[in-house]
Amino acid sequence: MNIFLKGQSTDLSAVLLQREKRSHYQNQLEQRYPNKVVISFKLNIPGPIKNNDYLARIFQTGWRVLLSQLTGQVIEHSRMENALTTGPEAFLVVAGDLSQLKQLTIKFEDDFPLGRLFDVDLMAGKDEKYQLSRQDLGFAPRTCLICDQEAKSCIKAQRHSLMDAYQVINGLYANYYQENFYLFNWGKATVINAALAALLDEVTVTPKPGLVDPASNGAHQDMTAFTFIDSSLALRPYFVRAFELGQNFQGMDLTILFEQVRQAGIRAEQAMYLATKGVNTHKGLIFSLGIMVAALAQVTKNGPSRADRLRQIIQAMTANLLTVDLQKGLANQEDLTAGQQQYQRYQLTGIRGEAAQAFPMVFELALPFLGQASGSDNQRYLDTLMLIAGQLADSTLIKRAGSPAILAKMQAWSAEYFALGGSQRESGRTFLANLDQDFIKRNLSLGGAADTLVLTIFLARLQGVV
Ligand SMILES: [Zn+2]
Repeated sequence: MNIFLKGQSTDLSAVLLQREKRSHYQNQLEQRYPNKVVISFKLNIPGPIKNNDYLARIFQTGWRVLLSQLTGQVIEHSRMENALTTGPEAFLVVAGDLSQLKQLTIKFEDDFPLGRLFDVDLMAGKDEKYQLSRQDLGFAPRTCLICDQEAKSCIKAQRHSLMDAYQVINGLYANYYQENFYLFNWGKATVINAALAALLDEVTVTPKPGLVDPASNGAHQDMTAFTFIDSSLALRPYFVRAFELGQNFQGMDLTILFEQVRQAGIRAEQAMYLATKGVNTHKGLIFSLGIMVAALAQVTKNGPSRADRLRQIIQAMTANLLTVDLQKGLANQEDLTAGQQQYQRYQLTGIRGEAAQAFPMVFELALPFLGQASGSDNQRYLDTLMLIAGQLADSTLIKRAGSPAILAKMQAWSAEYFALGGSQRESGRTFLANLDQDFIKRNLSLGGAADTLVLTIFLARLQGVV
C-alpha cells in the first residue's frame, strides 16, 4: 500500500513558518518552566505530504509509546496539534534529569520500529548552552532511513529520491500495522484497560446485524448494552489475573498456563452471571480474550516482542485443546456447549479451532484490514465486523440458523455489503441497517464474529491502530 496517496501538500515556506512558531512556543515554555525539560515531538517525513490519516496514526502510536516510557515522570504540561498540514506535533514539559530523558528518547528513536520517523528534541532552560548530542551519551549518530550512512550526510548529498523514501516508509507502516507488528511491553494497567475498552467498543458499534448495540437489543431478548457494561466491568479481576498468570509463568509447558487461565475463567463466568443476573454475555471472550491477555503478558514479560512470537505462545498454550476438549471431552459430557455440538455434528472446530491456530482470523484478516481501513471508528469497526462475518464459521450464527448452510449466505451478504461501498457509502449503510432488521426477524446473531472483533480491537488498541 501507499500511504502517501491522500493528504494536503505543504511547501517549504509553510514548514519554515511552523518551525518558527515551534521555536517561539518552545521559548515560552522554557521561561514558564525554568527548571524542567521541554520535549518537542514531531514526525520527520520528507516530501510535500506531511499529514493524513496514516501519518496521524503513526504519530499517535509514537506518542503513546513515548508517554509509556515516561511513566513515573511528572508531566507538567502537554500540547498536541494533530491537524497541521506541516505534520502533527506535540510538546511535553517534564520534571526530570535532562541526560536521563535524552537517553529515553534516543532509545525511542532507535528501538521503537517507527521511531526513525520521529524527531524528538529536548531542551532544558537552565542548560541553554548545553545540548547533549547522541554521541555525548555514547550513542551512534542517527542513520539514514534508506541506507546505513549517517542521516545528515545523505540529506546534504541528496543521495536518495523521494520515491525511495516513500517506499521505505510504506514498508515500515505495513510491517508495523499489518504484518508482524511490534508488541510493546505496555504493563498491566494498559493491557487491562485495552481489554475492557475492546469489550465496550464492540457493544457500542452500531448497527451490528442481530447483535446488541446501543440502538437495539438485536436478536437478544435478555440483554441490552447496559448488560454488557455490567458484564465487562465484572471481568476486570479476571483479566488482571490472566495477565499476572502470563507474566509470572516460568515453565516450559505452556499448556499449564492455559489450564491456569481456564480455572480463573470458570470463576470469571460466575462473576459474569452474577453481574448480568444469569445472562451469558461474554463466555466466549472469557475464553479467547483471557488466552490473549495471558499470552501477551508472557511474551512481553522481558521486553517488547512481535506478533509472530505472540502467536507461537498462543499455539503452545492451546496445543492440547482440540484433542482434550473436542474429541475426548465429548465422550464424558452430557451438557455440550454449542461449539462441542457443532464439532460433533459438522466437524466444525469453532473458537477452539481458532485459538489452536493462534487466531488466524484476527492476525491474518481482521487486524491487517483494520490497519488500513478509513473513516470513523464506528465505520472501521463495522467494516471489520462484516469482513470477519463473511469468512468465519460463526458458531452462534450456525446455532441460531440451525445449519451451517447459513455460512454461504453470510458470505454473500458480506460481499454485497462491500460491493455497495460498505460503511463509506449510503447504499452500504442502508444494506447493513436492513440486514440488522432481517437478522432480528429471523433471530440470527453474529456472536462469534463479534468476539473476533473484540480480540481485534484489543490488539489494535495496543498497537495504536485505533
Ligand atoms: Zn542514505
